[in-house]
Amino acid sequence: MFNSLSDRLTATFKNLRGKGRLSEADVDATVREIRRALLDADVAVPVVREFTARVRERALGSEVNEALNPAQQIVKIVNDELVTILGGETRRINLAKNPPTVIMLAGLQGAGKTTLAGKLAKWLKAQGHSPLLVAADLQRPNAVKQLQVNGERAGVPVFAPHPGVSSESESATGDPVAVAQAGVAEAKSKLHDVVIVDTAGRLGIDAELMAQAANIRAAINPDEVLFVIDAMIGQDAVNTAKAFDDGVNFTGVVLSKLDGDARGGAALSVASITGKPVMFASTGESLDDFELFHPDRMASRILD
Ligand code: GDP
Repeated sequence: MFNSLSDRLTATFKNLRGKGRLSEADVDATVREIRRALLDADVAVPVVREFTARVRERALGSEVNEALNPAQQIVKIVNDELVTILGGETRRINLAKNPPTVIMLAGLQGAGKTTLAGKLAKWLKAQGHSPLLVAADLQRPNAVKQLQVNGERAGVPVFAPHPGVSSESESATGDPVAVAQAGVAEAKSKLHDVVIVDTAGRLGIDAELMAQAANIRAAINPDEVLFVIDAMIGQDAVNTAKAFDDGVNFTGVVLSKLDGDARGGAALSVASITGKPVMFASTGESLDDFELFHPDRMASRILD
């Protein structure tokens, strides 16, 4: 990911090398190239506009760092602004003062929620936590089974509506709000300190789905609501993220499928548009393909 954006920006900065001083025309030409590179990477138009305006203002402003030549100064400004739009500081999970910490997952079907649930559970377990997974996705017939498989791989128990739901043909029935509540109660009684609640998604935004997610949120009062988004969906990411933010007021973003050849637009747009930080990156199908998201490292990777 980001290869093309990274190449384009590097080429742009190369043109500035050797210049002793940057004229306004040099800055404008550079900002134009940055704008094109971001738009070609599918970054949302308002984000591009704001980003380039800030880079231009800072590059022309009085901000002078004697230790850097003009080209390095622009690279530093772009780097700082990339870190800012990716959410600034690395944001860690907000752990509840009174366990269990409740984490709810939301997002479209296929975004990678169920996979993420297993990854997050494994990661938390490795850090000494004792997570419980809760299968409140009762929409997709195979979702409960899939979570059970991931739980087994992660070595983490799964609370499911009917322990008997195990075949693809057998669709889970019941009330997802009740299942989520029962799952949190189970975590309390079995002394799990973290509970991860997987919820249903649809292929597109859907009022009924959003109401269900909002009802689950109201019933279990989570410490974190993680919105999982497929980084490959490009420009659609913005509308999807806005709809979920309106519906469930999520607290953080998880970018999934960062291992694909997405152009990176979703990653750069979602945090900026919603004002919510990217917290985790999902980078493959195995449960270990998962990491805490560091905005500064991602920015350096883009500008490498
Ligand atoms: P859900 O409908 O949101 O629960 O999505 P799933 O967790 O079932 O994931 C949908 C598909 O994407 C599955 O085939 C996963 O194996 C795959 N997947 C999930 N996360 C990643 C990832 O980070 N990278 C890649 N390449 N595939 C992923």
